[in-house]
Amino acid sequence: MVVVSGRPMKRLKRRVTADLLDFLTFPSSSSSSSSSASGAGGGTGGPFRTRVKEFLSRHAMPPPPSSLFPHLTTWQVVFRVGDVVTTGVGLDPSPAAVCLDVVEEEVSRSRSVYCDQCRVVGWSGHPVCGKRYHFIIKADGSSIGGHHKPCICCGDLLHFSESSCKSCNHVMTEEDVEDWVFHQLENTTHLLHAVVHSNGFGHLLRVNGREGGSRFLSGCHIMDFWDRLCKALGVRKVSVMDVSKKFGMEYRLLHAVTKGHPWYGEWGYEFGTGSFGITRDVYNRSVEILSSLPLSTLLSQEWNPSSRMPDVISFYQSLAKHELVNIRDLFCFLLSLVHGSRKSSLRDGDAIFNKVRSRDCGASGSWTRSEVERVEEAIVRVLRAVSSSNWVSRRALRGAAYRVASGELLDHCLRELRDKSVSSAMVICSRWNPDNGDFEYRLEPGGTASTVNASGMKSSFISRPSEDNLIRDMRYLYETILHPHTMLNEGTHATDYVEAAQRLLDCKQFMKDYRAEEAPSTANPFSIALLCQVELADHAMSSTICPPPELIILSPDATVSDLKHEVSRAFQDVYLMFRRFQADDLLDYRGVDDSTQVKHLRGLTNLVCVRGRCFVKNGVSKYRMERGLENWTVDCKCGAKDDDGERMLACDVCGVWQHTRCSGINDSESVPARFICGGCKMIKGGEDDKDEVKASVVDVHVNQMLTDGVLML
Ligand SMILES: [Zn+2]
Ligand SMILES: [Zn+2]
Ligand SMILES: [Zn+2]
Ligand SMILES: [Zn+2]
Repeated sequence: MVVVSGRPMKRLKRRVTADLLDFLTFPSSSSSSSSSASGAGGGTGGPFRTRVKEFLSRHAMPPPPSSLFPHLTTWQVVFRVGDVVTTGVGLDPSPAAVCLDVVEEEVSRSRSVYCDQCRVVGWSGHPVCGKRYHFIIKADGSSIGGHHKPCICCGDLLHFSESSCKSCNHVMTEEDVEDWVFHQLENTTHLLHAVVHSNGFGHLLRVNGREGGSRFLSGCHIMDFWDRLCKALGVRKVSVMDVSKKFGMEYRLLHAVTKGHPWYGEWGYEFGTGSFGITRDVYNRSVEILSSLPLSTLLSQEWNPSSRMPDVISFYQSLAKHELVNIRDLFCFLLSLVHGSRKSSLRDGDAIFNKVRSRDCGASGSWTRSEVERVEEAIVRVLRAVSSSNWVSRRALRGAAYRVASGELLDHCLRELRDKSVSSAMVICSRWNPDNGDFEYRLEPGGTASTVNASGMKSSFISRPSEDNLIRDMRYLYETILHPHTMLNEGTHATDYVEAAQRLLDCKQFMKDYRAEEAPSTANPFSIALLCQVELADHAMSSTICPPPELIILSPDATVSDLKHEVSRAFQDVYLMFRRFQADDLLDYRGVDDSTQVKHLRGLTNLVCVRGRCFVKNGVSKYRMERGLENWTVDCKCGAKDDDGERMLACDVCGVWQHTRCSGINDSESVPARFICGGCKMIKGGEDDKDEVKASVVDVHVNQMLTDGVLML
């Protein structure tokens, strides 16, 4: 659980806010088109590497002049949130402020050169980029940038020019401050934390909305902002590892069942790379299998009599007027009830319940008045037979009266009977009992004006499940029919269905392709936009190093020489390996004179292949790939061929990695000291391997990203 900091979010003086950009609309189309005069690479259009610089110089407050670490430059952009903020006390005329920190990280001097996220989303072959831009909104409203840093001893703010703390006399060293900034990059409580490499490929690391400690911004506000920012900055692809939780449930499972895609899908994030070899088709099929499972299948099975699952389901079926056919319907209805109960600020009475009630009245035409009365009389008879102070559960009433009418009619009458006066002296009272998850009824003396309103309905002070109870029931149903580890699978449907649920949980990597390189440059409609693919002349290197193409914007009369120059500059700028890169030839236009204008090249498409050399110095080759220097091979029986961030172990004989889970080792179990894969066991014949293979400690590869906290939306 994320702890909300006690520090109140900064509020701004009114006169200041007029100049600030609005977080809820920035960057609007009008604010980005105003820069169109700045030419190629500026304003709209152009690649991320140039647009991010332009964004910072236009909107961000630069770091203090004597910034101690040029390899961690922190820029600050302050936004206002909307125009007027309603506080608990009343209208506050000054809007809240949100501070976006942009930490520009010099990767060659970073504590972690390689990117774990790139490794597990299929970009492990990209060369290491020279810079990473972290976009961070801190939860407590403070900023990483600016002129103040907290003392690492007592937390008091220090001006950057002071070296010792006034409160505790601690002398801050350069390392202290560097530690503090690095700690910020690893902090998991930020409302937003995303990182984008200078080639435009990025990762959304964290979104924490209201459940995650945000006071003003919901998860949707933050995602809307992030999505607009990505478009404005020319970000190319963003991956996200969805480990978000909602009401304590895995949201990727719940959201996939109700909406058919993860929560991030609302902003266009799609199936990225499935862990455990799962493909997009398998994912979609699993969504369908799980969400379309008929409730009747669940209800018709023989359940342990102590399970209240069938009761909870039929309770909500009775509450909903439209038919809840499958699991999707059930969870959609539960979520709508929760949202409704949040929206409803009414203390007594409830919008949804009333809506259900009025719809119900419309539908009651299918029963005659005498039928309804007959059932009501039967129910009252049962209640009268019970000693007056005892509550009778809805389920028991239903059971006692089942001979007189159909289930639908009984449910209808029980719903209508809540708080109904049945004679001049008696009222049927109902209450929600959270312990058995059902309504309860009893007869009470009544009929006075204070308890019965004009329509004969007693005010429904406790006649519907509260938000807490709704969430509790939803979690109960989630655990018993949705989550593969806890679901009751006594039924016959088990395997397909449990597998589908497991797959939805296994799929955590989602991705959005902004197709930034396809967007036309509006900076200058006549400029030439080319995607340039680089091929290295050195064969040894060309087989392993293949950076994604970079977008190059040229003026309309640019020559081949200009193109080569721009390509060299772009790749030098983006990748550490390419610091001395030189573009030599256009592969399809060998021998074309350097002075030829690019627009006159025959058959020019928007993709050009350029051959060049890297002139790699010693010490630079470690920047070949984001995956790092280790050589590893993944070959798992589930089909995985690359690291997907899941727990793996390597075979002690052949060294090939595979999932622990696929090798029959549970996530909760520790790995054996020695492991030999199925393939090697077959070759060995399984007889003498015990002596020949030296026992060695297996290196367990546990991906940290899976354990570093959850997102609360
Ligand atoms: Zn990365
Ligand atoms: Zn101090
Ligand atoms: Zn596997
Ligand atoms: Zn092996």
